[in-house]
Parts: sequence; structure tokens; C-alpha cells
Amino acid sequence: MPRTLVTGAAGFIGSHLSEYLLDHGHSVVGMDNLITGDTANIQHLTGRDFVFVKHNVTNYINLAGPLDFIFHFASPASPIDYLRVPIQTLKVGSLGTHNVLGLAKAKGARFLLASTSEVYGDPLVHPQPESYWGNVNPVGPRGVYDEAKRFAEALTMAYHRYHGLDTRIVRIFNTYGPRMRPHDGRVVSNFIVQALHGEPLTVYGDGSQTRSFCYVDDLVTGIVLLFERGDADPTNLGNPHEFTVRELAALVLKLTGSRSEIVERPLPVDDPRVRQPDIGRVRETLGWEPKVGLEEGLRRTIDYFRRLTAA
Ligand code: NAD
Ligand code: UDP
Repeated sequence: MPRTLVTGAAGFIGSHLSEYLLDHGHSVVGMDNLITGDTANIQHLTGRDFVFVKHNVTNYINLAGPLDFIFHFASPASPIDYLRVPIQTLKVGSLGTHNVLGLAKAKGARFLLASTSEVYGDPLVHPQPESYWGNVNPVGPRGVYDEAKRFAEALTMAYHRYHGLDTRIVRIFNTYGPRMRPHDGRVVSNFIVQALHGEPLTVYGDGSQTRSFCYVDDLVTGIVLLFERGDADPTNLGNPHEFTVRELAALVLKLTGSRSEIVERPLPVDDPRVRQPDIGRVRETLGWEPKVGLEEGLRRTIDYFRRLTAA
């Protein structure tokens, strides 16, 4: 049975990934400092082959015993989170990734970095293939996240090339689903929570900016497939179906049956105008593509937030 470390395990994606790995025969160590995560996300894993370690991976990691695989997901991910904790965000992407790579090297473990579509910044190429180097403002407010992830990618490739470490880099595009925090500020959770509470849906700018939303189950199967059968080059994972933010707001209103109005709020600085993954590489090499459409994924996510509100 492989022993696998998931950093950021108490977060949104980390908790789904941990559960999937347990279901597929892994013994899982979940590590998290709970800066944006919550043990409620992993409570249901108690009693399974799962151990939780509360630790900030920016500090040296001491983990006894063998380790086969590492999935490095620790990092604030929502714009309001990384704007609130900019220095911790820079530190976990740089020092944290260095510590986790060092652990992988010491244990001879395969390593996967959760990178992001934000490495493309406000893209001038659309949709974004992995070969595009991006258009990032290093000194803007989002730079703390984007540059930390770009550094983390460079460090991962250096460990791969210099130390021969077996590595993967996944560039994750906007992902949503159950266990997002109701107030994590991301557009899907914001709109659903606002709609369920009869509050106005806050569209930033005129809502013509686009995103492409991937349901979390699709993402997790892609991540594990890439981990098992992929290579060291960065790989996009996401749903290429692109929507404007206004279209998303209208769909959330329709699916919740809410009568909330839509209001416009100022567009955040450096907010990317467009975003859509080019998933040609993963489709051709691994045959992966997402299966859950936005309507179906939103229904499942709305159900989750309804239950949370009722609890
Ligand atoms: P999240 O905030 O729900 O989860 C991140 C987890 O990492 C949290 O539990 C947090 O407490 C933990 N963490 C942060 N800093 C830490 C540290 N120094 N030490 C230990 N734990 C730490 O966010 P998420 O959406 O689940 O994102 C997970 C990963 O996926 C992140 O690396 C993020 O950059 C990446 N990602 C997510 C998306 C998305 O759409 N959700 C898109 C691109 C990339
Ligand atoms: N957004 C919005 N209203 C909100 C939250 C976000 O219009 O209440 C917009 C935001 O400006 C961006 C898009 O929705 O254009 C996606 O934002 P999110 O924070 O989910 O992630 P991003 O893709 O910007 O990292």
C-alpha cells in the first residue's frame, strides 16, 4: 500500500484528493496549518487510513517513515485569501515548496505541484496552451500568488533536472464544488451563497470577463491520472467551456430559483480579462477530459451550500 502525503489536505481540493486516494488504496498523511482550510473538510476521513498533521510547510518538515508519493497543494488560493496573507502566500510557494521538494528527495518520493492558470496572468494568448509564458504583473497585488507559483514551478523543474526527482506540475484552472468555503470570495461560492440568501449577486466590473469552470471530481481524476502516467512538463487541467461572469450569475439565479438582483462592483486590480485552458496536451497524451458540465456541477454545489445553510 503506497504511503502518500497531501499538503493542504484540509482545503477544498486537498480534501477531495485525500478522499480519492484513500478510496484507491493509499495510506494518506494530510498536512495543513489551517490558514484557509478547516478540519471539518476531513472529519469524515477519521477512522480510515488517514493521519492528520497540523504543520506549516514553510517550516522544516519532519516526517518519520517511508513516503512514496507527495501531492503539494498547500497555498491560499482565493484572491481574497492571498491578498489578506500576501507574505504567507509567497512563503508557502517558495520556502514551503522547497521544504516539500527536499522531503520528496530525501524519501525518494514522486512529487506533484499544484500550480495554477494564474501563471499565465492576464493572458495575451487565448486559450492558454502550456507553451505560453504568460503576462504577469510581478508587483501588482496578485503578484504574490502568481510569482510564488511561477517560482514553485521553476524550483520543481530544477529538482527534476538537477536531482533527477520524478515530478509533475499541474496548472489548475478555476475549479469549484462542495467544500469551498461559503465566504472564500471566489465567484462560484459568492454567487451561490448570495442567491440562496436572497442577497444581490456581486458582478465585478461589467461581468464580460470570462472564466472556464471545472467540477472538482473531474479535476481530481485528472490529477491522479497525470500523477500515474504523465511526465514532468507542466500540464493544464480544467474545463475548456468558457463563460462570462454575467452568464454564470444568470445560471446560478436560474438553478437556485432565486430572485436576487445583479449589482456591479469595482473590478479588482489585474483581474484577468479572459481565461480558458487549452487541454490538447492532456487529451492527446492521457485521454483525459472533463465530464461534468457547468449546470450539473452547479446543481451539486448548490445542494451542498443548501445543506450547509440548513445545518
Ligand atoms: P484552499 O484554500 O481550500 O486549500 C489550501 C489549503 O492549504 C488550506 O487547507 C490551507 O490551510 C493550506 N495551507 C496554506 N498554506 C499552508 C502552509 N504554509 N502550510 C500548510 N498548509 C497550508 O484552496 P484550494 O482551492 O483547495 O487550492 C488548493 C491548491 O490548488 C492550491 O495550491 C492552489 O494554488 C491550487 N489551485 C486551486 C485552484 C482552484 O480553482 N481551486 C486553481 C488553481 C490552483
Ligand atoms: N467575481 C465577481 N464577483 C464575485 C467574485 C468574483 O464578479 O463576487 C469575478 C472576478 O472579478 C473574476 C471572476 O469572477 O473576474 C473569477 O474570480 P475568482 O475570485 O473566482 O477567481 P480568479 O479566476 O479571479 O482567480
